[in-house]
Amino acid sequence: MRQPLVAGNWKMHGSAQSVSELLGALVEGGVPEAVEVVVCPTYVHLPQAIDLCRASSVEVGAQDCSHAVEGAYTGEVAAPMIAELGCQWVIIGHSERRAYHGEGEDLISAKLKAAMAAGLKPIFCVGETREQREADEAETVVAAQLRGALESVDTLAGLVIAYEPVWAIGTGLTATPQQAQDMHAFIRGELAGLGVDPAATRVLYGGSVKPGNAAELFAQQDIDGALVGGAALVAEDFQAIVTAAV
Ligand code: PGA
Repeated sequence: MRQPLVAGNWKMHGSAQSVSELLGALVEGGVPEAVEVVVCPTYVHLPQAIDLCRASSVEVGAQDCSHAVEGAYTGEVAAPMIAELGCQWVIIGHSERRAYHGEGEDLISAKLKAAMAAGLKPIFCVGETREQREADEAETVVAAQLRGALESVDTLAGLVIAYEPVWAIGTGLTATPQQAQDMHAFIRGELAGLGVDPAATRVLYGGSVKPGNAAELFAQQDIDGALVGGAALVAEDFQAIVTAAV
């Protein structure tokens, strides 16, 4: 009953030419109706991406948004501005934002509220570091991230969660399908405690998803798709991951 979702997080990569080539290939190759496909380029490439995706079912998202609606926040981009462009999605709380920009639960929670208020659908990222997993703290950390960010948000309809173990992002290390499944099941349990319908909420896996491991991950009962970084920048790899999600 949950439609698979595959989202590409392009991070700080791309040029007008590469965006045109990547999306040209994706739109021309076509995406299966059964899978919801989202691409998240940099802010500056959003208008171009929206334009290129217009003739297809591929949707476009931003990689972040401000907690504020407008004001003196140099360098920030507000959720209503992103929505006005024609974006439907926004990634919130990515581990790189947490690690390099000091984003904590309060700010992430405010960003979720700002995104929801603007009509954007957040892909909210959670995940533990290698040290935390080795110390057997993975569930405690993820539970705190979920609670800290979601507890004070009133409407969470349409929210998508991405479980991205930090040790698996961009490292070539992937959680085993069983490790991922276990955490996804745990996340669903936590969501229920927060008043979010776990059966209706999509939980994506992220962290070195590739054509070679996607099918095995997607076969797990509680994995509804993927948030893909590096492999989303290679048209045929991203397409193969999308196909594996059918
Ligand atoms: P990766 O990135 O697929 O390159 O590991 C995933 C992400 O950061 O969303």
